[in-house]
Amino acid sequence: MYPEKCGSCGDQLSDGVLCTACKQTLHFHCASITEAGYRRLGDRKLTWRCMKCKQTSSSPKSPIPSVEASVLQEIRALSAKFTPLEGLKDEIKALRDEFADLKSSFNKKFDDLFNDFSDKIKTMEQRIVQVEKIQCQNTTVKELTMFDIDIGA
Ligand SMILES: [Zn+2]
Ligand SMILES: [Zn+2]
Repeated sequence: MYPEKCGSCGDQLSDGVLCTACKQTLHFHCASITEAGYRRLGDRKLTWRCMKCKQTSSSPKSPIPSVEASVLQEIRALSAKFTPLEGLKDEIKALRDEFADLKSSFNKKFDDLFNDFSDKIKTMEQRIVQVEKIQCQNTTVKELTMFDIDIGA
């Protein structure tokens, strides 16, 4: 009844699972099924197929759901990209408005700042002049002291 060799591993076969697709008989362990499990199949034995045949028969169908899945994944990835982008657009718009407000107020503030700054520069210039005067006086004092010392010596 049984072919001499297992359709999967090629070893000697005494009993096994008959594949209804490739008509090969496999060891129970090669077919990934227990003998008891195979016996319980009953009428389904007549439609039982080995792993190879299951793969080849299901392979033409499998790309379709996988393509759908990848398309879905892409759509999800795209929507995931677009959702923050939409939010980003709003944020940019809000930032622009804010910036426009800031710019107009900044122009006023800048004038104030500039006036303040030029005032400060004037004060600093005056201070520098004062410092220079003090330094001048200091040197004069020093020279005078040295002159005094020279006189004393
Ligand atoms: Zn085998
Ligand atoms: Zn088969």
